[in-house]
Amino acid sequence: MSNMIELVTTKGCNVYLLRYEGEWLIDAGTPGILKKLANLKSLRRIDGIILTHAHFDHMGGAYELQKHFDCPVYVHKLDMPYVTGEYELSFDGVLGKAAKLLEFFSRSKLPEEVRDVSETPLEVLHFPGHTPGSIGIIVERKLVCGDLVRKGKKHLFFGDEVPKLSPPTFCSNYHTYLDSLKKIAKMDFDLLFPGHGGEVSKDEFLDVVSKIPKIQ
Ligand SMILES: [Zn+2]
Ligand SMILES: [Zn+2]
Repeated sequence: MSNMIELVTTKGCNVYLLRYEGEWLIDAGTPGILKKLANLKSLRRIDGIILTHAHFDHMGGAYELQKHFDCPVYVHKLDMPYVTGEYELSFDGVLGKAAKLLEFFSRSKLPEEVRDVSETPLEVLHFPGHTPGSIGIIVERKLVCGDLVRKGKKHLFFGDEVPKLSPPTFCSNYHTYLDSLKKIAKMDFDLLFPGHGGEVSKDEFLDVVSKIPKIQ
C-alpha cells in the first residue's frame, strides 16, 4: 500500500490516515482511540477528521480526536444531525437491538465543530443508503468507502476473509444502498478501502455485487 492511505488502527472500525491535499483522518473509531494512535509520530497535525457516516463505530472517537488535534470534524450534511446529536439513527431487528446496546455502552461526547464534508478539497462522493449521508472519498483510483462493503470471515467467526455487503438491518434504506453499490460498480477505480477488514479489489467488488439477487 502506498503511504498515501495508511491504516492506523482498527479500533471500532478501520481508521485511515489520508495524505492528500493535507492530512486527514478518515473515520474516528470508538472511544479510547487516542491511545491506539499515540505512537504515531506522523500524526502531529491533522487538517480534519472525516466521517464516512454517522454510525457509532465510526464516530465514537471523534470527540477525543478533535480535542487532541484541534481540528474540525467533517461529515456529509445528511448525516450531520446524527453527529451533532439532533437525531438518532435507529436499527431494526435483533442485530439492530444489539447494535443499539453496543452504541449505548460506547457512548462518548459528541464532537463540537462539525462541518459539511464538501468544504474539504477532497473528491467526496455521496453513496446514500447505509446511512442517508454515507460517502466515499476517491484518491488516485482508490476509494475509501466506509461500510458500503467490508471484508469479514466467510462464516461468522471462521473461514477466509471475503468481501461482504452491509446487512439490511444496518442500512437506513436498503434499496438506496443497493443503488449506490451499482453506481460504484460503474466507476473507474482499482481498490476499495473499507471500514472493516482488508482492502477489496475492483474484481472482488464486482463479484459480490453480481451476487445480489436483483438490482434493476
Ligand atoms: Zn455503518
Ligand atoms: Zn461500521
